[in-house]
Amino acid sequence: MIPYSRQSITEEDIDAVVQVLRSDFLTQGPVVGQFEQAVAAQCEVDYAVAVASGTAALHVACLALGVTAGDLVLVAATSFVASANCAKYCGADVDFVDIDIDSGLLSSSCLEQCLARHKALGRVPKALIVVHMAGQSCDMRAISAQCQDQGIALLEDASHALGGTYTERPIGSCQYSDISVLSFHPIKPVAAGEGGMLLSNNAELAGRARLFANHGITRDPELLQNKDVGKNGAGWYYEQQQLGYNYRLSDIHAALGLSQLKKLQQGVAARTLIADRYSELFAQSEIKPLLRNRNCESAWHLFIVQFSTSAIRDKVFDRLRNAGFGVNLHYLPIPGHPYYQQQGFLLDDFPAAKEFAQRSLSLPIFASMPMTVAEQVAELCLSEYVNAEGK
Ligand SMILES: *Cc1c(COP(=O)(O)O)cnc(C)c1O
Repeated sequence: MIPYSRQSITEEDIDAVVQVLRSDFLTQGPVVGQFEQAVAAQCEVDYAVAVASGTAALHVACLALGVTAGDLVLVAATSFVASANCAKYCGADVDFVDIDIDSGLLSSSCLEQCLARHKALGRVPKALIVVHMAGQSCDMRAISAQCQDQGIALLEDASHALGGTYTERPIGSCQYSDISVLSFHPIKPVAAGEGGMLLSNNAELAGRARLFANHGITRDPELLQNKDVGKNGAGWYYEQQQLGYNYRLSDIHAALGLSQLKKLQQGVAARTLIADRYSELFAQSEIKPLLRNRNCESAWHLFIVQFSTSAIRDKVFDRLRNAGFGVNLHYLPIPGHPYYQQQGFLLDDFPAAKEFAQRSLSLPIFASMPMTVAEQVAELCLSEYVNAEGK
């Protein structure tokens, strides 16, 4: 089966991991710090905190923002469930914002309506979590203006988007947000096996996140509450100052991530060529790739197309799977999952996310994919379409 996405591991990547295995540190040695610095430089952001997964990064981001029981957090309706679960981990209430069906991205006008609805109930959300679906940035300038009006913290789930740009700055730069979060799951733009990173230009937020990711423990003499003990006791003294977690990334993972990062631009360039080829092949058809926003360059984590009906999408899905192409759906809307349904969410309240899930398909796209695969996949999509139309 040719998957919709997959990692590319080179001998250089393998050597980098083996080098760590032969070193003194398997976890939290020098490589984690090097990886943090390299990602911060790539994203043009001041602070980077490496953690065990993208989900862990989202969780400590919410904790650092002070999200707690009784708070309201808004989340894009179309995403992986982790984008919303992080707020639930903190005991917050979640509500969802519908998407723009053509781009798959959170819609500013739906956000406006959602904010108005909560305002009428006397509620101001603590935070908004936007998702850069498929690798393309949301309209951060407009969204941040909407959030600033009401003092709402803005968190970017950039799990899909490392390597993309928005207004000519790297996604992850936090130019318009408080925190951005990355994932290094193998299918994401940089693979570390597992791993995630929190990015911010706010030293205090980054410091709090780091504390939460390491049991709430600090050894930093500046931060100790019992400074005298710290001074006298020297090396052995540390304090747990709040309840935290073990969300540390290991040096083994960081070595793979750091090595992979060197090929980030190469990977984005290769996927861009594939995306452009698909777009060209679908140009004269009724199969619509996601709308490309001006002032964005996508990292092309996914290549999503929309069919005109769910019946055609279903047929194409079966046909491609039977032909050995691992096409997939991204995503069933989060409020459509049983866990969220039990909390009273109705899919009909998010009509664009619902329809998006009925008519979309993610086609194979990854750096090492031969262009002929894109051509075969496009041909199968188009021919099924002709069949269905003909009936
Ligand atoms: C992959 C992903 C995550 C979670 O990342 P993990 O590293 O797997 O925990 C969160 N949000 C989105 C949108 C993702 O695609």
